[in-house]
Amino acid sequence: MLTDQFGRNINYLRLAIVDRCNLRCTYCMPEKGLAWINQKELITDEEMLRICTIFTEMGVNKIRITGGEPFVRKNSIELLQNISQLDGLTDLSITTNGLLTEQYIPQLKKFGIKSINLSLDTLDEERFFKITRRKSFDKVMKTLDSLLQHNIAVKINTVVMEDQNIDDIIPLIKLTKERPIDVRFIEEMPFNGGTHSLSLKWNFVQILNHIKAHFPEIQKIEDPKNSTSYNYNIPGFSGNIGIIAAYTRSFCGTCNRLRLTPSGILKTCLYEGTGVNLKDEIRMGKTNEELKNIIINSVQNKPKDGWEAQKSSLTASQIHQSMATIGG
Ligand code: SAM
Ligand code: SF4
Repeated sequence: MLTDQFGRNINYLRLAIVDRCNLRCTYCMPEKGLAWINQKELITDEEMLRICTIFTEMGVNKIRITGGEPFVRKNSIELLQNISQLDGLTDLSITTNGLLTEQYIPQLKKFGIKSINLSLDTLDEERFFKITRRKSFDKVMKTLDSLLQHNIAVKINTVVMEDQNIDDIIPLIKLTKERPIDVRFIEEMPFNGGTHSLSLKWNFVQILNHIKAHFPEIQKIEDPKNSTSYNYNIPGFSGNIGIIAAYTRSFCGTCNRLRLTPSGILKTCLYEGTGVNLKDEIRMGKTNEELKNIIINSVQNKPKDGWEAQKSSLTASQIHQSMATIGG
């Protein structure tokens, strides 16, 4: 079992399998995209599988596939299948924007994937275009319907942004009335590729007050262990509502997560500027035992929380990296 210096058991790996994306969400990257990682720097399927095997041998039992947009990576479905077969893995999940996802749903179901986080910031087609800079709203809605038809649990991720999608908060909550969908409202973070100005107005308290003004009957429910969201239910609604204090970072105390970037950097905190590059270590010929020791050392030094990490290692330019390069 991997444990850090604060006694936290680390059993969850978020694997960003690619930095590229078929959307250009304003809060995530500039219109022209990013300086994409070149093919040589991208971690290969074989390297990724080896790293995942090592992590599962060390007690990681939960892996989330993310990116960039995971399904933009070549052979992503084969990679997912191989990861799903790892011994010790009890929870494999995906975060996706839903554009290419629908065609793979029957396969994902076969791989034992029970839950998918679908990013959707608005239910309005025009606003969708404004936020994502692409006309693909219908595709996302089709993916949502298909996931529900296949009994895959859906959590909608919505980044809350001043002047952009505040009018969507209540309609998104209403989606959860009849359907077993959870909606999580996320505080916007600065990781946007550097061209977008961040408004800190819509923090946890503001979002909750907005929801309470419309649904005074809303009730706090118990948060699952290690949850990053504070969770609520409106009596009579099938799905739950979560608020993720991603910027105010009040959930760090119970953090059990590690991240692997598409170029192979192991990050023990989202707000950490650097990390050891496991892909490079593999290419230098390290054995699995040596890699395990490197991982143990990194985990030992996992920062107490995102504020400490930011203070000690995040440079001003790194704060403008994109979530797509870090792995959201
Ligand atoms: N492309 C996939 C998607 O959008 O679901 C997976 C990668 S994306 C980086 C993962 C999550 O990060 C998404 O739910 C997205 O909304 C969130 N995200 C991206 N940039 C963010 C930011 N600046 N602040 C808060 N959340 C952000
Ligand atoms: Fe792409 Fe996801 Fe970033 Fe949007 S949030 S640009 S879908 S990686």
